Amino acid sequence: MKGYIFDLDGTVYLDDEPIDGAAKTINELKAQGHKVVFLTNKSIARRSDYVEKLNKMGIECTIEDVINSNFITAKFLQGKPGKALVIGEKPLFEELTEEGIQITNNPREAYYVVIGWDHEFNYEKLSQAYEAYQNGAKIIATNPDRTCPTKEGEIPDCEAMIGAIEGATGKTIDYIAGKPSRLMMQYVTEEVLKLPPNQCYMIGDRLETDILMGNENGVNSVLVLTGITKRADVAQSEIKPTYILNSIADLKSSD
Ligand SMILES: [Mg+2]
Repeated sequence: MKGYIFDLDGTVYLDDEPIDGAAKTINELKAQGHKVVFLTNKSIARRSDYVEKLNKMGIECTIEDVINSNFITAKFLQGKPGKALVIGEKPLFEELTEEGIQITNNPREAYYVVIGWDHEFNYEKLSQAYEAYQNGAKIIATNPDRTCPTKEGEIPDCEAMIGAIEGATGKTIDYIAGKPSRLMMQYVTEEVLKLPPNQCYMIGDRLETDILMGNENGVNSVLVLTGITKRADVAQSEIKPTYILNSIADLKSSD
């Protein structure tokens, strides 16, 4: 039995369009007795939204099979004292609250600032984050993606908001919870898949998140070329995947 960890955007689908062969490949792996989990850095949808989306594409899964960066951010904060000031969209607020994280909109009582992708990010939110920082709050982000791939091209993601905060503070933020964090990979292999890392495969389209996270944690990494990264980019990068496939459709069980 192996564990297959799939990135979503650019790997399983692009926007609402499944990548050709995605459902067939994933359902076959499950039928062969392998474990499958889905991992996304995108903070603007709930885990349940992804379950619904995947099910509609003919990919069977439940909420336990989908881990997003909001959930890992909550895992990071659980057990730590103090409230969090949150900049992000409704799903981030909801999923943090559901995991017991206390949220405040008062920068002076925040122990943490949590930053996620926010289509309504503005100067006022930036100022609040900065005020919390000045009061000693630690700044953490859901994910370090600069952009998100869509059918129309790439659009700015969470790193753009991180850049704004770092521009104000002059310092690198304290922690990023989503891919490529060790916390996220360990949670998936130990708590979800319950398999040794070397029996797992991380399949994704982005070198600096999906592939790096696999490589740094002893998980086999598989780059697919249906998203952000082109074959020529691999030659330019220090981050080398264990395997390169044109598409998820080319993935076959190694057993
Ligand atoms: Mg991706």
